[in-house]
Amino acid sequence: MAVREIITVPDPRLKLVSQPVERVDEELRDLMDDMLQSMYAADGIGLAAIQVGVPKRVIVMDLAKADEAPAPRYFVNPVLSDPSDNLQPYEEGCLSVPTVFDEVERPDRVRIQYLDYDGKPCDEIAEGMFAVCIQHEMDHLEGILFIDYLSRLKRQRAVQRVKKLDKDKTRDDAA
Ligand code: ZN
Repeated sequence: MAVREIITVPDPRLKLVSQPVERVDEELRDLMDDMLQSMYAADGIGLAAIQVGVPKRVIVMDLAKADEAPAPRYFVNPVLSDPSDNLQPYEEGCLSVPTVFDEVERPDRVRIQYLDYDGKPCDEIAEGMFAVCIQHEMDHLEGILFIDYLSRLKRQRAVQRVKKLDKDKTRDDAA
């Protein structure tokens, strides 16, 4: 297992539409293991494969609280349907847009069908935090970021902020 670099805006790869996975095999499980480690290392709760530069329809997630045991989850080729009509605002953040948080409204309940870590088909209803997170991660598979829902000005500010962070970091690394 290895921690991989998480790409940040304005990396153009974040706009790619990810491709379906053909087979859940050892190679894919290696990717999912790496994604989970990378997500934990960055203190995140969800991560899409494209965030480590791999355009595959794969998501990892762990919504366990700090005082709870880890509860990793894996979603391969996920499909969302039956969104509720009730929209709920939630302040979102993203490992690819670090230090930026803003409110996004999404359906508060959605059905999700996917293959799990072992390639077994699953079908469930996501609500609450799970619903927010899975819809955020699903957007990554379509090349959409949460800042795309914000005003153009807010989006531009967010990208500028991350660019500056990256520049400062590069300078620190060089020093
Ligand atoms: Zn994200």
